[in-house]
Amino acid sequence: MVGSGWSVLLPRHCAVCNAWLPAETEWMIACDSCALDWPELHAGFGSMVMKERCRMPFAAMGFRLRTRGELNAQLGAIKYGGNRWLAKQWGNWLGHRVPRLASYSQPLVLVPVPLHWRKQWKRGYNQAEWIARGLSQAWRCEVASSALRRLRHHSSMTGMNRVDRVGIVRDLYQVESPGLASEIGIVLVDDVMTTGATLSACGNALKRSGLNWLGGITLALA
Ligand SMILES: [Zn+2]
Repeated sequence: MVGSGWSVLLPRHCAVCNAWLPAETEWMIACDSCALDWPELHAGFGSMVMKERCRMPFAAMGFRLRTRGELNAQLGAIKYGGNRWLAKQWGNWLGHRVPRLASYSQPLVLVPVPLHWRKQWKRGYNQAEWIARGLSQAWRCEVASSALRRLRHHSSMTGMNRVDRVGIVRDLYQVESPGLASEIGIVLVDDVMTTGATLSACGNALKRSGLNWLGGITLALA
């Protein structure tokens, strides 16, 4: 049930308090009273920070991540809680908050940042891919899930600084789909951006293969 009909078939409720959501707010993730408690989302400022970290022309995010709180719990459920449908729902929300690149008239494709196959096998899915699927519904574009491949597995980069991370991820990603035409604009999708090292490494791999990397979008900026 991967098609666009799932949101019609399933009852829609707030991801935080489980209250029913009215049908006309199909893309909303939370009810008004829950969303009112969220911190300022700082999306415009966040995209400036992201552009600086990755030197990419297009950058966007859904919200700024705090160490505690509901949004952090939502990310945990997406990443470790096995909730791929929640990831898709958040992706759809993201696509309604951030307009599709209006300045780019060529076809657009979303490329999720890949997990190493072993990690994906353990987790059962790649959360970035499901965010991309939700986003693609809102933006009406394709998702190329296997365009990139992660070559090695590392336990975690949490706690590392940018220099360490850049060194580790530099040649970590490889383009798997040379079939993507060079005029197709590619936007990378991930759940969280921390130092930007991962998005940079993926973007550089795309550029090295002669592909048209436009930038990246993440649900959260850490
Ligand atoms: Zn609620």
